[in-house]
Amino acid sequence: MALLRDPLLNKGTAFTEEERDAFGLRGFLPAHVLSMQEQVERTLINLRSLPSDLEKYIALNALHDRNEALFFRVVCDNIDEIQPLIYTPTVGLACQRFGLIFQRPRGMFIGANDRGRIGELLGNWPYQAKLIVVTDGERILGLGDLGAHGMGIPVGKLSLYSACAGVHPEHCLPVMLDVGTNNEELLNDPYYIGLRQKRISGAAYDEFVDEFITAARETFPGVLIQFEDFANHSAFRLLHKYRDKTSVFNDDIQGTAAVALAGLFSALRVGGGKLVDQTVLFLGAGEAATGIADLVVSAMRAEGASEADAIRRNWLVDSRGLVVKDRPGLTEHKLRYAHEHAPIGDFLTAIETLKPTAIIGVAAVGGAFTPEVLQAMARINQRPIVFALSNPTSKAECSAEEAYRHTGGRALFACGSPYDPVEFDGKTFVPRQGNNSYIFPGVGLGAIASGSRRVTDEMFMAAAHTLAYLVNDDDIEQGSLYPALPRIREVSAHIAAAVAEVAYKRGLATGQAPNDLIGYIESQMYDPHY
Ligand code: NAD
Repeated sequence: MALLRDPLLNKGTAFTEEERDAFGLRGFLPAHVLSMQEQVERTLINLRSLPSDLEKYIALNALHDRNEALFFRVVCDNIDEIQPLIYTPTVGLACQRFGLIFQRPRGMFIGANDRGRIGELLGNWPYQAKLIVVTDGERILGLGDLGAHGMGIPVGKLSLYSACAGVHPEHCLPVMLDVGTNNEELLNDPYYIGLRQKRISGAAYDEFVDEFITAARETFPGVLIQFEDFANHSAFRLLHKYRDKTSVFNDDIQGTAAVALAGLFSALRVGGGKLVDQTVLFLGAGEAATGIADLVVSAMRAEGASEADAIRRNWLVDSRGLVVKDRPGLTEHKLRYAHEHAPIGDFLTAIETLKPTAIIGVAAVGGAFTPEVLQAMARINQRPIVFALSNPTSKAECSAEEAYRHTGGRALFACGSPYDPVEFDGKTFVPRQGNNSYIFPGVGLGAIASGSRRVTDEMFMAAAHTLAYLVNDDDIEQGSLYPALPRIREVSAHIAAAVAEVAYKRGLATGQAPNDLIGYIESQMYDPHY
Protein backbone atom coordinates (compact mmCIF):
# COMPACT_ATOMS: atom_id res chain seq x y z
CA MET A 1 0.00 0.00 0.00
CA ALA A 2 2.87 2.34 0.79
CA LEU A 3 4.06 1.96 -2.79
CA LEU A 4 0.71 3.14 -4.16
CA ARG A 5 0.84 6.13 -1.83
CA ASP A 6 4.38 7.18 -2.80
CA PRO A 7 4.19 9.50 -5.83
CA LEU A 8 7.85 8.92 -6.73
CA LEU A 9 7.29 5.15 -7.03
CA ASN A 10 3.60 4.75 -7.79
CA LYS A 11 2.61 3.47 -11.24
CA GLY A 12 -1.09 3.01 -10.48
CA THR A 13 -2.81 0.71 -12.94
CA ALA A 14 0.49 0.25 -14.80
CA PHE A 15 2.00 -2.07 -12.15
CA THR A 16 2.65 -5.29 -14.06
CA GLU A 17 1.35 -8.73 -13.07
CA GLU A 18 4.83 -9.63 -11.75
CA GLU A 19 5.09 -6.41 -9.74
CA ARG A 20 1.62 -6.92 -8.28
CA ASP A 21 2.81 -10.32 -6.97
CA ALA A 22 6.23 -9.17 -5.83
CA PHE A 23 5.07 -6.03 -3.95
CA GLY A 24 1.92 -7.38 -2.32
CA LEU A 25 -0.35 -5.25 -4.46
CA ARG A 26 -2.90 -7.98 -5.20
CA GLY A 27 -6.39 -6.82 -4.45
CA PHE A 28 -5.50 -3.11 -4.36
CA LEU A 29 -5.74 -2.59 -8.12
CA PRO A 30 -8.37 -3.35 -10.76
CA ALA A 31 -7.49 -6.29 -13.02
CA HIS A 32 -6.63 -4.57 -16.28
CA VAL A 33 -2.99 -3.48 -16.62
CA LEU A 34 -2.49 -0.27 -18.58
CA SER A 35 0.69 0.82 -20.32
CA MET A 36 2.15 4.22 -19.50
CA GLN A 37 1.15 5.43 -22.95
CA GLU A 38 -2.46 4.43 -22.29
CA GLN A 39 -2.34 6.22 -18.95
CA VAL A 40 -1.04 9.35 -20.71
CA GLU A 41 -3.87 9.21 -23.25
CA ARG A 42 -6.47 8.70 -20.53
CA THR A 43 -5.06 11.63 -18.57
CA LEU A 44 -5.28 13.88 -21.62
CA ILE A 45 -8.87 12.86 -22.36
CA ASN A 46 -9.86 13.74 -18.81
CA LEU A 47 -7.87 16.94 -18.79
CA ARG A 48 -9.29 18.22 -22.08
CA SER A 49 -12.84 17.60 -20.88
CA LEU A 50 -12.41 20.03 -17.97
CA PRO A 51 -14.10 23.39 -18.44
CA SER A 52 -11.45 25.80 -17.15
CA ASP A 53 -7.68 26.16 -16.95
CA LEU A 54 -7.85 26.36 -13.17
CA GLU A 55 -9.58 22.99 -13.02
CA LYS A 56 -6.92 21.59 -15.32
CA TYR A 57 -4.27 23.00 -12.98
CA ILE A 58 -5.95 21.29 -10.03
CA ALA A 59 -6.22 17.98 -11.90
CA LEU A 60 -2.56 18.12 -12.95
CA ASN A 61 -1.51 18.96 -9.40
CA ALA A 62 -3.43 15.97 -8.11
CA LEU A 63 -1.71 13.74 -10.68
CA HIS A 64 1.65 15.21 -9.61
CA ASP A 65 0.82 14.21 -6.04
CA ARG A 66 -0.18 10.65 -7.06
CA ASN A 67 2.25 9.61 -9.76
CA GLU A 68 5.24 11.77 -10.63
CA ALA A 69 6.49 9.72 -13.56
CA LEU A 70 3.11 9.87 -15.28
CA PHE A 71 2.72 13.58 -14.50
CA PHE A 72 6.11 14.36 -16.04
CA ARG A 73 5.50 12.10 -19.06
CA VAL A 74 2.29 14.03 -19.73
CA VAL A 75 4.09 17.36 -19.35
CA CYS A 76 7.15 16.40 -21.43
CA ASP A 77 5.14 15.00 -24.33
CA ASN A 78 2.64 17.89 -24.43
CA ILE A 79 4.73 20.82 -23.27
CA ASP A 80 3.00 23.39 -25.51
CA GLU A 81 -0.37 22.50 -24.04
CA ILE A 82 0.63 21.82 -20.43
CA GLN A 83 3.24 24.48 -19.62
CA PRO A 84 0.67 27.31 -19.61
CA LEU A 85 -1.45 25.19 -17.24
CA ILE A 86 1.23 24.37 -14.66
CA TYR A 87 3.05 27.67 -15.03
CA THR A 88 2.20 31.13 -16.41
CA PRO A 89 -0.46 32.22 -16.97
CA THR A 90 -2.62 29.69 -15.04
CA VAL A 91 -0.32 29.52 -12.02
CA GLY A 92 -1.11 33.20 -11.36
CA LEU A 93 -4.79 32.42 -10.90
CA ALA A 94 -3.88 29.31 -8.91
CA CYS A 95 -1.84 31.41 -6.48
CA GLN A 96 -4.72 33.86 -6.11
CA ARG A 97 -7.00 30.95 -5.20
CA PHE A 98 -4.35 28.89 -3.40
CA GLY A 99 -6.16 28.78 -0.07
CA LEU A 100 -9.27 27.36 -1.68
CA ILE A 101 -7.67 24.82 -4.01
CA PHE A 102 -5.03 23.62 -1.53
CA GLN A 103 -5.05 19.82 -1.28
CA ARG A 104 -1.72 18.29 -0.33
CA PRO A 105 1.32 20.21 0.86
CA ARG A 106 4.31 20.09 -1.49
CA GLY A 107 7.76 21.35 -0.54
CA MET A 108 8.48 23.10 2.74
CA PHE A 109 6.78 26.02 4.49
CA ILE A 110 9.25 27.74 6.79
CA GLY A 111 7.66 30.41 8.95
CA ALA A 112 9.01 33.48 10.70
CA ASN A 113 8.23 31.71 13.97
CA ASP A 114 10.63 28.89 13.00
CA ARG A 115 13.65 31.12 13.72
CA GLY A 116 16.33 29.14 15.49
CA ARG A 117 15.25 25.74 14.19
CA ILE A 118 15.29 26.05 10.39
CA GLY A 119 18.08 23.46 10.14
CA GLU A 120 15.96 21.04 12.11
CA LEU A 121 13.01 21.62 9.75
CA LEU A 122 15.12 21.12 6.63
CA GLY A 123 16.45 17.92 8.20
CA ASN A 124 12.89 16.58 8.05
CA TRP A 125 12.98 16.62 4.26
CA PRO A 126 13.32 12.97 3.23
CA TYR A 127 15.42 13.52 0.07
CA GLN A 128 18.82 14.98 -0.80
CA ALA A 129 17.90 18.30 -2.41
CA LYS A 130 20.23 19.61 -5.12
CA LEU A 131 18.01 22.48 -6.18
CA ILE A 132 15.84 24.78 -4.07
CA VAL A 133 13.47 27.36 -5.52
CA VAL A 134 12.54 29.76 -2.74
CA THR A 135 10.14 32.70 -2.52
CA ASP A 136 8.74 34.89 0.21
CA GLY A 137 5.64 35.55 -1.90
CA GLU A 138 5.99 39.33 -1.87
CA ARG A 139 5.88 39.92 -5.66
CA ILE A 140 4.16 37.00 -7.33
CA LEU A 141 4.33 37.48 -11.13
CA GLY A 142 2.76 40.90 -11.66
CA LEU A 143 0.16 40.20 -8.97
CA GLY A 144 1.84 41.65 -5.91
CA ASP A 145 2.02 40.30 -2.36
CA LEU A 146 0.29 36.91 -2.18
CA GLY A 147 2.11 35.77 0.97
CA ALA A 148 2.17 31.99 1.46
CA HIS A 149 -0.17 31.57 -1.50
CA GLY A 150 2.88 32.31 -3.65
CA MET A 151 4.02 28.71 -3.05
CA GLY A 152 2.48 27.83 -6.43
CA ILE A 153 5.44 29.55 -8.08
CA PRO A 154 8.35 27.46 -6.67
CA VAL A 155 6.25 24.33 -7.20
CA GLY A 156 5.56 25.28 -10.83
CA LYS A 157 9.15 26.29 -11.53
CA LEU A 158 10.51 23.04 -10.18
CA SER A 159 8.03 21.08 -12.29
CA LEU A 160 9.52 22.86 -15.28
CA TYR A 161 13.03 22.00 -14.11
CA SER A 162 12.16 18.31 -14.19
CA ALA A 163 10.10 18.45 -17.39
CA CYS A 164 12.25 20.85 -19.43
CA ALA A 165 15.73 19.98 -18.20
CA GLY A 166 15.36 16.58 -16.59
CA VAL A 167 16.43 17.56 -13.07
CA HIS A 168 15.21 14.55 -11.08
CA PRO A 169 12.10 15.45 -9.02
CA GLU A 170 13.72 13.86 -5.95
CA HIS A 171 16.41 16.55 -6.09
CA CYS A 172 13.95 19.45 -6.23
CA LEU A 173 12.74 21.28 -3.13
CA PRO A 174 10.21 24.16 -3.28
CA VAL A 175 10.41 26.46 -0.26
CA MET A 176 8.05 29.14 1.00
CA LEU A 177 9.62 31.55 3.47
CA ASP A 178 6.42 32.62 5.21
CA VAL A 179 7.35 35.94 6.77
CA GLY A 180 3.74 37.16 6.84
CA THR A 181 1.90 39.30 4.31
CA ASN A 182 0.93 42.94 4.02
CA ASN A 183 -2.02 42.02 1.81
CA GLU A 184 -5.04 42.98 3.93
CA GLU A 185 -7.40 40.95 1.82
CA LEU A 186 -5.41 37.80 2.59
CA LEU A 187 -5.06 38.65 6.26
CA ASN A 188 -8.87 38.79 6.41
CA ASP A 189 -9.40 35.72 4.25
CA PRO A 190 -10.58 32.76 6.40
CA TYR A 191 -8.90 30.36 3.97
CA TYR A 192 -5.51 32.07 3.84
CA ILE A 193 -2.96 29.30 4.51
CA GLY A 194 -0.09 31.41 5.81
CA LEU A 195 0.90 33.24 8.98
CA ARG A 196 -1.68 35.88 9.83
CA GLN A 197 0.69 38.69 10.56
CA LYS A 198 2.35 41.60 8.77
CA ARG A 199 5.63 40.83 7.08
CA ILE A 200 8.71 40.90 9.26
CA SER A 201 11.25 43.35 7.84
CA GLY A 202 14.65 44.93 8.37
CA ALA A 203 17.21 43.04 10.45
CA ALA A 204 14.67 40.41 11.56
CA TYR A 205 13.95 39.54 7.90
CA ASP A 206 17.61 39.46 6.92
CA GLU A 207 18.55 37.25 9.87
CA PHE A 208 15.71 34.88 9.05
CA VAL A 209 16.78 34.54 5.40
CA ASP A 210 20.39 34.17 6.47
CA GLU A 211 19.50 31.34 8.83
CA PHE A 212 17.66 29.64 5.97
CA ILE A 213 20.57 29.97 3.50
CA THR A 214 23.09 28.72 6.07
CA ALA A 215 20.89 25.80 7.09
CA ALA A 216 20.16 24.85 3.47
CA ARG A 217 23.87 24.76 2.63
CA GLU A 218 24.62 22.64 5.69
CA THR A 219 21.73 20.23 5.19
CA PHE A 220 22.21 19.87 1.43
CA PRO A 221 25.89 20.53 0.64
CA GLY A 222 26.39 22.04 -2.82
CA VAL A 223 22.69 22.88 -3.20
CA LEU A 224 21.76 25.49 -5.81
CA ILE A 225 19.30 28.09 -4.51
CA GLN A 226 17.10 30.04 -6.92
CA PHE A 227 15.44 33.18 -5.56
CA GLU A 228 12.00 33.64 -7.02
CA ASP A 229 9.43 36.45 -6.95
CA PHE A 230 10.92 38.49 -4.11
CA ALA A 231 10.01 42.18 -4.14
CA ASN A 232 12.61 44.64 -5.46
CA HIS A 233 13.86 45.75 -2.08
CA SER A 234 14.76 42.17 -1.10
CA ALA A 235 15.63 40.69 -4.51
CA PHE A 236 18.60 42.88 -5.39
CA ARG A 237 19.95 42.89 -1.84
CA LEU A 238 19.78 39.12 -1.40
CA LEU A 239 21.34 38.44 -4.78
CA HIS A 240 24.25 40.78 -4.11
CA LYS A 241 24.71 39.45 -0.61
CA TYR A 242 24.96 35.78 -1.59
CA ARG A 243 26.05 35.55 -5.22
CA ASP A 244 29.78 35.59 -4.43
CA LYS A 245 29.43 33.33 -1.41
CA THR A 246 27.41 30.39 -2.67
CA SER A 247 25.51 28.92 -5.59
CA VAL A 248 22.48 31.23 -6.00
CA PHE A 249 20.76 33.17 -8.70
CA ASN A 250 17.64 35.27 -9.13
CA ASP A 251 15.61 34.14 -12.09
CA ASP A 252 13.49 37.30 -12.29
CA ILE A 253 16.65 39.37 -12.71
CA GLN A 254 19.14 37.06 -14.44
CA GLY A 255 16.99 34.44 -16.18
CA THR A 256 14.71 37.10 -17.66
CA ALA A 257 17.76 38.99 -18.82
CA ALA A 258 19.12 36.03 -20.74
CA VAL A 259 15.82 35.20 -22.43
CA ALA A 260 15.31 38.82 -23.48
CA LEU A 261 18.88 39.14 -24.79
CA ALA A 262 18.42 35.94 -26.82
CA GLY A 263 15.22 37.47 -28.26
CA LEU A 264 17.12 40.62 -29.22
CA PHE A 265 19.79 38.55 -30.99
CA SER A 266 17.05 36.74 -32.95
CA ALA A 267 15.28 40.00 -33.79
CA LEU A 268 18.53 41.40 -35.17
CA ARG A 269 18.85 38.40 -37.47
CA VAL A 270 15.66 39.64 -39.13
CA GLY A 271 15.99 43.38 -38.81
CA GLY A 272 19.74 43.54 -39.40
CA GLY A 273 22.13 45.72 -37.41
CA LYS A 274 24.22 45.05 -34.36
CA LEU A 275 23.20 45.02 -30.74
CA VAL A 276 25.65 47.80 -30.03
CA ASP A 277 23.65 50.15 -32.30
CA GLN A 278 20.29 49.55 -30.62
CA THR A 279 18.49 51.90 -28.25
CA VAL A 280 16.36 49.99 -25.77
CA LEU A 281 13.52 51.64 -23.86
CA PHE A 282 12.02 49.70 -20.98
CA LEU A 283 8.57 50.18 -19.55
CA GLY A 284 9.28 49.21 -15.95
CA ALA A 285 12.38 49.75 -13.87
CA GLY A 286 12.34 46.74 -11.60
CA GLU A 287 14.07 43.38 -11.46
CA ALA A 288 13.33 42.36 -15.02
CA ALA A 289 14.12 45.75 -16.59
CA THR A 290 17.43 46.39 -14.83
CA GLY A 291 18.42 42.73 -15.09
CA ILE A 292 17.89 42.79 -18.85
CA ALA A 293 19.59 46.18 -19.20
CA ASP A 294 22.64 44.94 -17.29
CA LEU A 295 23.04 41.91 -19.55
CA VAL A 296 22.43 43.99 -22.69
CA VAL A 297 25.21 46.34 -21.50
CA SER A 298 27.57 43.36 -21.04
CA ALA A 299 26.69 42.07 -24.51
CA MET A 300 27.20 45.54 -26.06
CA ARG A 301 30.57 45.75 -24.37
CA ALA A 302 31.47 42.38 -25.85
CA GLU A 303 30.72 43.96 -29.25
CA GLY A 304 33.20 46.74 -28.52
CA ALA A 305 31.12 49.51 -26.88
CA SER A 306 32.50 51.38 -23.90
CA GLU A 307 30.61 50.84 -20.66
CA ALA A 308 29.36 54.43 -20.64
CA ASP A 309 28.08 54.22 -24.23
CA ALA A 310 26.41 50.88 -23.61
CA ILE A 311 24.65 52.12 -20.48
CA ARG A 312 23.44 55.22 -22.31
CA ARG A 313 21.70 53.04 -24.91
CA ASN A 314 19.34 51.67 -22.23
CA TRP A 315 16.55 53.82 -20.79
CA LEU A 316 13.92 53.11 -18.16
CA VAL A 317 10.40 54.46 -17.74
CA ASP A 318 8.71 53.74 -14.42
CA SER A 319 5.42 54.87 -12.87
CA ARG A 320 6.81 58.41 -12.53
CA GLY A 321 8.07 58.69 -16.10
CA LEU A 322 11.54 58.57 -17.62
CA VAL A 323 14.20 57.71 -15.08
CA VAL A 324 16.56 60.70 -15.22
CA LYS A 325 19.51 61.81 -13.18
CA ASP A 326 17.93 64.78 -11.46
CA ARG A 327 14.87 62.94 -10.23
CA PRO A 328 14.99 62.83 -6.42
CA GLY A 329 14.50 59.63 -4.46
CA LEU A 330 15.60 57.10 -7.07
CA THR A 331 16.18 53.63 -5.66
CA GLU A 332 19.66 52.24 -6.00
CA HIS A 333 19.03 49.68 -8.73
CA LYS A 334 17.78 52.42 -11.10
CA LEU A 335 20.76 54.75 -10.69
CA ARG A 336 22.92 53.11 -13.38
CA TYR A 337 20.30 54.05 -16.00
CA ALA A 338 19.37 57.49 -14.64
CA HIS A 339 20.78 59.53 -17.52
CA GLU A 340 21.25 63.25 -17.86
CA HIS A 341 17.98 64.27 -19.57
CA ALA A 342 14.98 66.52 -19.12
CA PRO A 343 12.08 64.77 -17.34
CA ILE A 344 9.51 63.04 -19.55
CA GLY A 345 6.22 62.08 -17.97
CA ASP A 346 4.90 59.37 -20.25
CA PHE A 347 6.00 56.43 -22.33
CA LEU A 348 4.74 57.68 -25.70
CA THR A 349 6.63 60.98 -25.39
CA ALA A 350 9.71 59.02 -24.33
CA ILE A 351 9.44 57.02 -27.55
CA GLU A 352 8.99 60.11 -29.70
CA THR A 353 11.97 61.77 -28.00
CA LEU A 354 14.49 58.92 -27.63
CA LYS A 355 13.54 57.03 -30.81
CA PRO A 356 14.26 53.54 -29.47
CA THR A 357 14.76 50.60 -31.80
CA ALA A 358 13.32 48.26 -29.13
CA ILE A 359 10.70 48.60 -26.41
CA ILE A 360 10.53 46.02 -23.65
CA GLY A 361 7.49 45.92 -21.39
CA VAL A 362 8.16 44.61 -17.88
CA ALA A 363 6.00 46.85 -15.71
CA ALA A 364 3.00 44.57 -15.28
CA VAL A 365 0.73 47.30 -16.63
CA GLY A 366 -1.78 45.57 -18.90
CA GLY A 367 -2.40 47.33 -22.23
CA ALA A 368 0.40 49.87 -21.79
CA PHE A 369 1.58 49.37 -25.40
CA THR A 370 -1.35 51.29 -26.82
CA PRO A 371 -2.05 51.58 -30.56
CA GLU A 372 -0.32 55.00 -30.45
CA VAL A 373 2.80 53.49 -28.85
CA LEU A 374 2.96 50.72 -31.44
CA GLN A 375 2.28 53.11 -34.34
CA ALA A 376 5.05 55.41 -33.10
CA MET A 377 7.49 52.50 -33.01
CA ALA A 378 6.49 51.57 -36.56
CA ARG A 379 6.98 55.16 -37.74
CA ILE A 380 10.47 55.34 -36.26
CA ASN A 381 11.69 51.86 -37.24
CA GLN A 382 11.44 49.69 -40.30
CA ARG A 383 11.37 46.61 -38.03
CA PRO A 384 10.42 47.75 -34.50
CA ILE A 385 11.35 45.34 -31.73
CA VAL A 386 8.40 44.97 -29.36
CA PHE A 387 8.64 42.66 -26.36
CA ALA A 388 5.53 42.57 -24.13
CA LEU A 389 6.95 40.39 -21.40
CA SER A 390 4.70 41.05 -18.39
CA ASN A 391 2.78 38.15 -16.88
CA PRO A 392 0.15 36.87 -16.50
CA THR A 393 -1.83 37.57 -19.69
CA SER A 394 -3.99 40.23 -17.99
CA LYS A 395 -0.79 42.23 -17.41
CA ALA A 396 0.59 41.90 -20.94
CA GLU A 397 1.47 45.28 -22.47
CA CYS A 398 -0.24 44.26 -25.71
CA SER A 399 -1.43 41.12 -27.42
CA ALA A 400 0.37 39.56 -30.38
CA GLU A 401 -2.49 40.54 -32.64
CA GLU A 402 -2.27 44.19 -31.54
CA ALA A 403 1.51 44.24 -32.02
CA TYR A 404 1.25 43.05 -35.63
CA ARG A 405 -1.88 45.06 -36.52
CA HIS A 406 -0.60 48.43 -35.31
CA THR A 407 2.83 48.06 -36.89
CA GLY A 408 1.59 46.86 -40.27
CA GLY A 409 2.97 43.38 -39.58
CA ARG A 410 6.51 44.72 -39.13
CA ALA A 411 6.94 44.18 -35.37
CA LEU A 412 9.56 41.72 -34.20
CA PHE A 413 7.49 40.51 -31.32
CA ALA A 414 7.93 38.38 -28.22
CA CYS A 415 5.46 37.95 -25.39
CA GLY A 416 5.50 36.87 -21.75
CA SER A 417 2.25 34.95 -22.09
CA PRO A 418 1.33 32.47 -24.80
CA TYR A 419 -0.59 33.70 -27.86
CA ASP A 420 -2.01 31.77 -30.79
CA PRO A 421 -0.66 32.38 -34.28
CA VAL A 422 -1.89 35.61 -35.86
CA GLU A 423 -3.05 36.05 -39.47
CA PHE A 424 -2.19 39.47 -40.82
CA ASP A 425 -2.08 40.69 -44.39
CA GLY A 426 -1.98 37.18 -45.82
CA LYS A 427 0.85 36.07 -43.55
CA THR A 428 0.76 33.81 -40.48
CA PHE A 429 2.91 34.97 -37.58
CA VAL A 430 3.80 32.53 -34.80
CA PRO A 431 4.66 34.59 -31.72
CA ARG A 432 6.68 32.74 -29.10
CA GLN A 433 6.97 33.36 -25.41
CA GLY A 434 10.00 35.27 -24.19
CA ASN A 435 9.68 33.27 -21.04
CA ASN A 436 12.58 32.52 -18.76
CA SER A 437 11.49 28.89 -18.84
CA TYR A 438 13.78 28.68 -21.89
CA ILE A 439 16.71 29.64 -19.68
CA PHE A 440 16.51 28.67 -16.00
CA PRO A 441 16.06 24.90 -16.43
CA GLY A 442 19.22 24.63 -18.54
CA VAL A 443 21.19 27.00 -16.31
CA GLY A 444 20.21 25.03 -13.20
CA LEU A 445 20.99 21.69 -14.82
CA GLY A 446 24.39 22.94 -16.01
CA ALA A 447 25.26 24.29 -12.57
CA ILE A 448 24.20 21.08 -10.82
CA ALA A 449 25.79 18.72 -13.34
CA SER A 450 29.15 20.51 -13.13
CA GLY A 451 28.87 20.96 -9.35
CA SER A 452 29.45 24.67 -9.86
CA ARG A 453 30.08 26.65 -6.70
CA ARG A 454 28.69 29.85 -8.22
CA VAL A 455 26.23 30.94 -10.90
CA THR A 456 27.79 33.84 -12.80
CA ASP A 457 26.65 36.46 -15.32
CA GLU A 458 29.00 34.86 -17.83
CA MET A 459 26.85 31.73 -17.58
CA PHE A 460 23.68 33.71 -18.38
CA MET A 461 25.44 35.31 -21.33
CA ALA A 462 26.43 31.85 -22.57
CA ALA A 463 22.82 30.70 -22.08
CA ALA A 464 21.49 33.66 -24.14
CA HIS A 465 23.90 32.98 -27.01
CA THR A 466 23.04 29.28 -26.98
CA LEU A 467 19.30 29.92 -27.01
CA ALA A 468 19.58 32.39 -29.90
CA TYR A 469 21.82 29.97 -31.81
CA LEU A 470 19.14 27.26 -31.59
CA VAL A 471 16.53 29.42 -33.35
CA ASN A 472 16.40 28.08 -36.91
CA ASP A 473 15.56 29.77 -40.22
CA ASP A 474 12.03 28.35 -40.28
CA ASP A 475 11.38 29.92 -36.86
CA ILE A 476 12.66 33.27 -38.07
CA GLU A 477 10.63 33.06 -41.29
CA GLN A 478 7.36 32.83 -39.33
CA GLY A 479 8.29 35.63 -36.92
CA SER A 480 9.30 33.35 -34.02
CA LEU A 481 12.22 34.69 -32.01
CA TYR A 482 12.59 31.52 -29.93
CA PRO A 483 12.75 27.81 -30.77
CA ALA A 484 9.57 25.75 -30.62
CA LEU A 485 8.74 24.71 -27.06
CA PRO A 486 8.71 20.96 -27.85
CA ARG A 487 12.48 21.32 -28.43
CA ILE A 488 12.91 22.48 -24.84
CA ARG A 489 14.86 19.45 -23.59
CA GLU A 490 17.35 19.79 -26.45
CA VAL A 491 17.56 23.53 -25.73
CA SER A 492 18.10 22.93 -22.01
CA ALA A 493 20.79 20.31 -22.64
CA HIS A 494 22.73 22.73 -24.84
CA ILE A 495 22.34 25.60 -22.40
CA ALA A 496 23.43 23.30 -19.57
CA ALA A 497 26.52 22.29 -21.53
CA ALA A 498 27.35 25.96 -22.21
CA VAL A 499 26.91 26.81 -18.53
CA ALA A 500 28.96 23.83 -17.39
CA GLU A 501 31.70 24.80 -19.83
CA VAL A 502 31.95 28.21 -18.15
CA ALA A 503 32.06 26.50 -14.74
CA TYR A 504 34.94 24.22 -15.83
CA LYS A 505 36.80 27.06 -17.59
CA ARG A 506 36.57 29.36 -14.58
CA GLY A 507 37.56 26.75 -12.01
CA LEU A 508 34.13 26.83 -10.37
CA ALA A 509 33.21 23.22 -11.08
CA THR A 510 33.70 20.18 -8.90
CA GLY A 511 35.78 17.48 -10.57
CA GLN A 512 37.16 17.13 -14.08
CA ALA A 513 35.39 18.25 -17.24
CA PRO A 514 34.03 15.21 -19.10
CA ASN A 515 35.31 14.69 -22.67
CA ASP A 516 31.84 14.63 -24.16
CA LEU A 517 30.11 17.41 -22.24
CA ILE A 518 26.76 17.33 -24.02
CA GLY A 519 26.69 13.50 -23.77
CA TYR A 520 27.44 13.76 -20.06
CA ILE A 521 24.69 16.37 -19.55
CA GLU A 522 22.15 14.24 -21.42
CA SER A 523 23.08 11.23 -19.31
CA GLN A 524 22.17 13.24 -16.19
CA MET A 525 18.67 14.09 -17.41
CA TYR A 526 15.67 12.41 -15.83
CA ASP A 527 13.43 10.85 -18.46
CA PRO A 528 10.09 9.96 -16.90
CA HIS A 529 9.21 6.33 -17.52
CA TYR A 530 8.45 3.22 -15.48
P1 NAD B 1 9.20 44.61 -10.37
O1 NAD B 1 8.16 44.81 -9.34
O2 NAD B 1 10.61 44.45 -9.96
O3 NAD B 1 9.16 45.84 -11.40
C1 NAD B 1 8.01 46.47 -11.89
C2 NAD B 1 8.42 47.85 -12.35
O4 NAD B 1 7.33 48.44 -13.04
C3 NAD B 1 8.78 48.80 -11.23
O5 NAD B 1 9.99 49.44 -11.54
C4 NAD B 1 7.66 49.83 -11.21
O6 NAD B 1 8.12 51.11 -10.86
C5 NAD B 1 7.25 49.81 -12.66
N1 NAD B 1 5.90 50.32 -12.87
C6 NAD B 1 4.79 50.13 -12.12
N2 NAD B 1 3.74 50.80 -12.64
C7 NAD B 1 4.19 51.42 -13.74
C8 NAD B 1 3.60 52.26 -14.71
N3 NAD B 1 2.31 52.61 -14.63
N4 NAD B 1 4.36 52.71 -15.72
C9 NAD B 1 5.65 52.37 -15.81
N5 NAD B 1 6.28 51.57 -14.92
C10 NAD B 1 5.56 51.10 -13.90
O7 NAD B 1 8.75 43.38 -11.24
P2 NAD B 1 9.63 42.55 -12.29
O8 NAD B 1 10.26 41.36 -11.65
O9 NAD B 1 10.53 43.48 -12.99
O10 NAD B 1 8.49 42.00 -13.24
C11 NAD B 1 7.68 42.88 -13.97
C12 NAD B 1 6.77 42.09 -14.90
O11 NAD B 1 7.54 41.33 -15.80
C13 NAD B 1 5.84 41.09 -14.18
O12 NAD B 1 4.60 41.07 -14.82
C14 NAD B 1 6.51 39.77 -14.41
O13 NAD B 1 5.59 38.68 -14.44
C15 NAD B 1 7.11 39.98 -15.78
N6 NAD B 1 8.23 39.11 -16.03
C16 NAD B 1 8.17 38.30 -17.13
C17 NAD B 1 9.20 37.44 -17.40
C18 NAD B 1 9.17 36.57 -18.61
O14 NAD B 1 9.87 35.59 -18.67
N7 NAD B 1 8.38 36.90 -19.61
C19 NAD B 1 10.28 37.37 -16.54
C20 NAD B 1 10.32 38.22 -15.43
C21 NAD B 1 9.29 39.08 -15.19
